[in-house]
Amino acid sequence: MKITYLGTAAAEGAPAIFCDCAACMEARKRGGKELHTRSQFLIDDDLGIDFPPDAYAHSLHFNVDLRRLQHLFITHSHMDHFYAQDFILRGYKYATPLDAPLCIYGCKEVVEVFREGTRRELKSEVARNLQMVEINAFTPVPAGDYIVTPLKANHGKTPAFVYLVEKGDEGYLHLTDTGRLPQETLEFLADYYQGKKKKVGLVTFDCTFLFHEGGETARHMGLPDNRLLQSWLEENGVCDKATKYAVTHYSHNSAPLSENLQKAEREYGYIATYDGFFIDF
Ligand SMILES: [Zn+2]
Ligand SMILES: [Zn+2]
Ligand SMILES: [Zn+2]
Repeated sequence: MKITYLGTAAAEGAPAIFCDCAACMEARKRGGKELHTRSQFLIDDDLGIDFPPDAYAHSLHFNVDLRRLQHLFITHSHMDHFYAQDFILRGYKYATPLDAPLCIYGCKEVVEVFREGTRRELKSEVARNLQMVEINAFTPVPAGDYIVTPLKANHGKTPAFVYLVEKGDEGYLHLTDTGRLPQETLEFLADYYQGKKKKVGLVTFDCTFLFHEGGETARHMGLPDNRLLQSWLEENGVCDKATKYAVTHYSHNSAPLSENLQKAEREYGYIATYDGFFIDF
């Protein structure tokens, strides 16, 4: 599987959209890899996770053919992960005829946001090119070559999923937006991987707080929380020494400038992602 990190910041972006703190000013001055946009992930070139307001810009900057996207899994309804309005453009005079509908999967709240966001402008010719599917935690969803299992996240009052994505015997664990995982999710993963020889190959951690700890009740994580979760996953047979770990979803408050991301890589051995970065595993 190839995972591409098209957007690697929290909701406000880093630099943040309306901020002039020292870290944001410095990132604006430097440009390039110092600019982190909102969360979007691509698996190979046909399965997506999340669709932020920056999705169109990502497609231009990183040469992504969004027409090829067939399955799109949404983590939760926050605007930095699901900008439903753009889907009114998938058909009619806005696009040449499409081969297959795009299936968008999410929890009940995501389905509601889809309805709200497309209510005014979705033409019937376009609606038939879209299929919004409500999914439930712990129920695997077959999607093309993949099996995607939504798991419960810990994201405050907002219902949210993290995902286990499997292709053949390869497994990818996508853990944004979430604090430390709920017990139910940990137990599911431990049971699922019990006796399996091949463990999860890559884990992406929510790392909104970077070097700061979120603690038990936070709805995001920092590196110390990631480390605790890594230990749990390895001790319980979900991951092993061959598993790779990546971090993403940085807040501007954590000053995700490249020297700080490199420090995180040195101190924790994780891959600190930036926009456009990809891992083949
Ligand atoms: Zn977010
Ligand atoms: Zn700032
Ligand atoms: Zn969120």
